[in-house]
Amino acid sequence: MIICKLISTNNLIPDQLVKSGQTFIIGRNRQCRIKNLNCSRNFCKIQLLNEKKLSVEYLKDGRIVRMKSGEFLNGPGFSYKISLINDSMKSDAMTEDKISWIEIESGNVLIGSKFGGDRCSSDKIAGFDFDFTLVSTKSAKSFPIDENDWKLFDQRLPEYIQQLVNEQGYRFVIFSNQLGISKGKITVDFVKKRFENSLKGMQVPCLIMIATKDDIYRKPCTGLWDYLVQHIQPEIEINMQQCFYVGDAAGRPKTTTKKADFSASDLLFAMNIGVNFLTPEQFINHMTKYKQFEYQQLENNSPTLPEKCFKVGNNENESNFLLTNRLTGEKINDLQSILPTNVHCIIFCGISGSGKTTFFENYLQPLNYVHINYDQLKTNQKCQSLAKKSMSEQRNIVIDNTNIERNSRQQWINLCKQNGYEYLIFYFELSLKHVFHNNKFRQITGIHKSVPDVVIYTQNKKFESINNDECQQQFTINFNPKFAESNHQKLYSLYLIEK
Ligand SMILES: [Mg+2]
Repeated sequence: MIICKLISTNNLIPDQLVKSGQTFIIGRNRQCRIKNLNCSRNFCKIQLLNEKKLSVEYLKDGRIVRMKSGEFLNGPGFSYKISLINDSMKSDAMTEDKISWIEIESGNVLIGSKFGGDRCSSDKIAGFDFDFTLVSTKSAKSFPIDENDWKLFDQRLPEYIQQLVNEQGYRFVIFSNQLGISKGKITVDFVKKRFENSLKGMQVPCLIMIATKDDIYRKPCTGLWDYLVQHIQPEIEINMQQCFYVGDAAGRPKTTTKKADFSASDLLFAMNIGVNFLTPEQFINHMTKYKQFEYQQLENNSPTLPEKCFKVGNNENESNFLLTNRLTGEKINDLQSILPTNVHCIIFCGISGSGKTTFFENYLQPLNYVHINYDQLKTNQKCQSLAKKSMSEQRNIVIDNTNIERNSRQQWINLCKQNGYEYLIFYFELSLKHVFHNNKFRQITGIHKSVPDVVIYTQNKKFESINNDECQQQFTINFNPKFAESNHQKLYSLYLIEK
């Protein structure tokens, strides 16, 4: 069979395929997606003549032109390069069914395109997760045993997705987390093969975006979406209300027939972006009922957020005073007003990720305090000797350790008393959810290696509250992050913890 591929030279309209025996109309219609008003709905008609030539009939005046492979067919709002393929001669002639792949961000993101899916801009995005949304495993295992271990999640999906793309003008985009790649559990080729095998039945332009690492591209972070709207179709203003995202990781609890979702990353991804969210089941039901995606009909029945999900501003006290006197309740904004004029030592107290080092860097480092930090010095003995040395030099010091147990605080208090130092306790009181959020943020941005969850839980459990008589000058720090980069501020405001 002879196939003609019309390769769009701009990224606003998709490629088209014309097979021998077919006629194909180029025009301002749903399939071609040409927007230029000077192009009529039926602008010209394409017919294949033989393996070298095709005819183009301009429908306005009946003029017929013959063209060959390699030439450009131009008109208002479109320009296609003609590529004729005889698929009985070439083994890879069905190139339209192959996915072309590129790597960006040093391989942290893989982008695949099928049927010119990388060029089908639209203001409406139909986003889909891949595993257990479009496909599940034949083996019924959580991870596919090989590249053929797949089946469609629902047999109606190809029809429904074709409806969205061909009839409603949606851009079909798959957003997938494939962390196994960077963990060395699966290869890039294995992932590519799985997508190629399982998307064979979807005869629509498709863009595939895959996050291979635990970074800003991994859902629920919005890196993949941001890349799409900023770099792949920057010329389009997105109609957020009509966009939607379908995924199975919705934080749903266990039921009698189904185990609990392993995470809520898909739901949180949609919430972070600000688009409608549907589970695969909801999508299938919706399309079965309405035969098209009717966002007005979408019931707001998103699953409830799992308990650990956290977003800054939802739960925290947003006021911007700096600290509170724990003994008097007085709120203080001027740090200098509480710092003694005599030599002194500030003892930090708070679990990992509660903001101790950040606070030091923002407020105390500029005041020339000696920084005594267990993470840097590695042993308590080294912390002790640096403290003693600094006291002999009459310098003000900060003990930036967790100091969650009374004993650990007491050793510093004793040292202060022996050396005639005044001492203050700064307590970094933060909800456990917020600490996990900070921990994840530090890891994603590379500011700090992430601390394992279990360490945070253990520290929280071991924490011994500060007694009033432990210290006469004790303050609670009101956590108030400052950001060096504006994209960090945006990232911090998202849901970062996926389960
Ligand atoms: Mg999934």
